[in-house]
Amino acid sequence: MRELPPTAGLPLRLTDLWPGRAPFAQRVADWLGVEHLQLECSGTAAMVVALRAMHRLRPQRDEVIVPAWTCPLVALAIHRAGLKLRLCDLAEDHFDMDFVQLCTLAGPRTLAIVPTHLAGRVADVNAALDVAHRMGAYVLEDAAQALGAKHGEHTVGLLGDAGFFSLAVGKGLTLFEGGLLLTRDPVLRDAFAASHDATIRPDVKMDWQRALELVGYTLAYRPSLLSLAYGRPLRKALAENDPVAAVGDDFGPDIPLHTVSEWRQAVGARALPRLPAFLDATRAQARRRVERLRQIPGITVFDDRPGQQGAWPFLLLTLQNETKRDAALKTLWTAGLGVSRLFIHALPDYGYLREIVADTPLPNARSFAARSLTITNSLWLDDATFESICAALEHAAA
Ligand SMILES: *Cc1c(COP(=O)(O)O)cnc(C)c1O
Repeated sequence: MRELPPTAGLPLRLTDLWPGRAPFAQRVADWLGVEHLQLECSGTAAMVVALRAMHRLRPQRDEVIVPAWTCPLVALAIHRAGLKLRLCDLAEDHFDMDFVQLCTLAGPRTLAIVPTHLAGRVADVNAALDVAHRMGAYVLEDAAQALGAKHGEHTVGLLGDAGFFSLAVGKGLTLFEGGLLLTRDPVLRDAFAASHDATIRPDVKMDWQRALELVGYTLAYRPSLLSLAYGRPLRKALAENDPVAAVGDDFGPDIPLHTVSEWRQAVGARALPRLPAFLDATRAQARRRVERLRQIPGITVFDDRPGQQGAWPFLLLTLQNETKRDAALKTLWTAGLGVSRLFIHALPDYGYLREIVADTPLPNARSFAARSLTITNSLWLDDATFESICAALEHAAA
């Protein structure tokens, strides 16, 4: 069976896997037009390293404000850094934080606010900066899903005090797992380096594990084999009524914190020259498809705002209510067409986060979780198949 991935990952080639070494982070920095990037073993690890550094600089502050609908790893990273989460509800029918609530949450204990560039879309960093800088807090941009996205002329991650990208499977350019930390502030840059030295150790076992996983990805990331690696486990989890496992949101508390092997960096450096053309092709495809989806009554599709040029790993949309969203997913989720959900719950609704996330009323975040779905922007999704997805959405949204 043909199976499409839920996001547009850059496929690796066997020739990328040759032995070698290369200054991967510096090459990505050159491409993004920034001076320096700090490589970590995951986006989550990048966040732990950054938050620990920020906490050392402002030790009287121990709270981090995040949108209530985001990756559960964000909650685990904050906890691992020894800090407390404060959840901000979303704005109505948007993935940005509600500004009024953000203003009430921020205070003298706020260490950082984390605007989040979900689905490659550019988040409202200025609103977070406005609040954070009045309060003496940092802004850490979560650009895990947005490598290649630009705000004006510049990459995301430069408007805030710092930002991080993920190189995990499914987020575009991948080392199977990896993260890149960016800051325009020389004080933070030194603090991030010191935090890395204090926290991150080599780990030969993890080097081997990730190397094998990266080879596995290179081999299996194609429509003819993805049903083994992705589709079958997904359908099994859904049959068992476990949507959290189906989308891979079922994280354990353990966060690997280790260096990235020279070889995996070399693999990334070999794939990197193909990334700009890949991002252009996915952007062009997304532009057409966003226009098409806009014609469907009852659907909101998230797009760039003027002056923004996001990345397009997948299309994020909402329907009017959960019933309609579930009607759309009933046929589409298991069809192998790359239709899925992003985060299943608002953060307090993950059982395994109960100890570290306080339950608060979050009507907009819960509504967004219940009404949203995603369509892959993989170049393997052809126009005819995309049109069949649109037909199913038209039917469900009516
Ligand atoms: C994936 C993701 C992370 C964590 O990145 P990893 O590289 O998977 O550790 C953080 N935030 C968001 C929004 C993500 O999607």
